[in-house]
Amino acid sequence: MEIRKVPFFNYPAVFKTYEEDFLRIFKDVGHRGAFIMQKDMADFERNLAEYTGAKFCVGLNNATDAILLGLLAAGIKQGDEVLFCSHTFVATAGAIHFAGGVPVPVEAGADHLMDVDQIEKAITKKTKFVVPTQLNGRTCKMDKMIAVAKKHGLKIIEDSAQGLGSKYKGKSAGTFGEAACISFYPAKNLGTLGDSGALLTNNEDIYQQVIQLRDHGRDPKTGEIMRFGYNMRMDNLHGAFLNFLLQKYDSVVARRREVAEVYETNLKNVEEIIRPPAPDSHPDHFDVFQNYEIEAKDRDQLKTYLGERGIGSMVQWGGKAVHQFAGLNLKYSLPFTENLFRRMLLVPLNNTISNDEVKYICDNIKSFYARK
Ligand SMILES: *Cc1c(COP(=O)(O)O)cnc(C)c1O
Repeated sequence: MEIRKVPFFNYPAVFKTYEEDFLRIFKDVGHRGAFIMQKDMADFERNLAEYTGAKFCVGLNNATDAILLGLLAAGIKQGDEVLFCSHTFVATAGAIHFAGGVPVPVEAGADHLMDVDQIEKAITKKTKFVVPTQLNGRTCKMDKMIAVAKKHGLKIIEDSAQGLGSKYKGKSAGTFGEAACISFYPAKNLGTLGDSGALLTNNEDIYQQVIQLRDHGRDPKTGEIMRFGYNMRMDNLHGAFLNFLLQKYDSVVARRREVAEVYETNLKNVEEIIRPPAPDSHPDHFDVFQNYEIEAKDRDQLKTYLGERGIGSMVQWGGKAVHQFAGLNLKYSLPFTENLFRRMLLVPLNNTISNDEVKYICDNIKSFYARK
């Protein structure tokens, strides 16, 4: 097979795909001097709320701080225990920590998302919140989770950084709990040219608090300082870029699901691989494939083999579940998740990859297992 170059993610393409449009938007915003808390950001907030079906949206600097502000506005107290799935970005746990909470990791399940059946085991008298991650563009079984949360009086804050447009039983990720974050980091499905994020909520009190918390505690109408706050505002320029990109988002989702289907077709007979659920394989789930995370026999050798053939792949989060980072001092053992981390691999699924490139990747996966 001829060697090709298929990077895991093409960062310049985030800009180049819409270069002319970005330059036009940059000039427009620049000539208006509309840099901070301007109309473009407000328009985007309205558009994103409408897109997800959330009542309110607040534009923020990133998704990590959206989790932090969501927890603060939902009333977290110092020392509250907060359950999260250990197969997530450390940002989830970091936000819990800086909100004053104690992050308590929970196992991932077979679909790599928080295992709802493991939640109750982790609950103590101090448990007050659960922060599920809508990982890889898939939404957790939220009806079960909501039932468990209700039973134990827990509030849900969704880490939906990877979940935009994903649905469970027809309802969008980011609209199930008290609040949720969405990330517009460049490599996310809806990625801008830098850091940016948003908080979604259906709760007007949380909305009003986060509006103040992101802007030095200021009341936006009077300018009066109502409380201590942060500077966590979304740059208006990102609001303008994101308004433009959101109009194209349905086609991004459709294309990503198409790519997942090409993987599904080409890998389904490879018995050494466990594939993520295929698009439309379950009526309750609508997945947007932020990532394509397989489980692979001899994962490390496969990764090296693919690398030698020009194919970029990754183990998510640098190869460890959150509770496995010794520096965080979370003393838990989660055997199912730890085993997943010996087997999981992300193969390229992004907005610019071609079917032909996916076929090339699958052919190489097959030749790896055939050669022994
Ligand atoms: C990207 C990501 C975040 C952090 O988003 P930022 O916008 O970079 O702060 C948090 N959680 C998950 C699951 C993510 O993938």
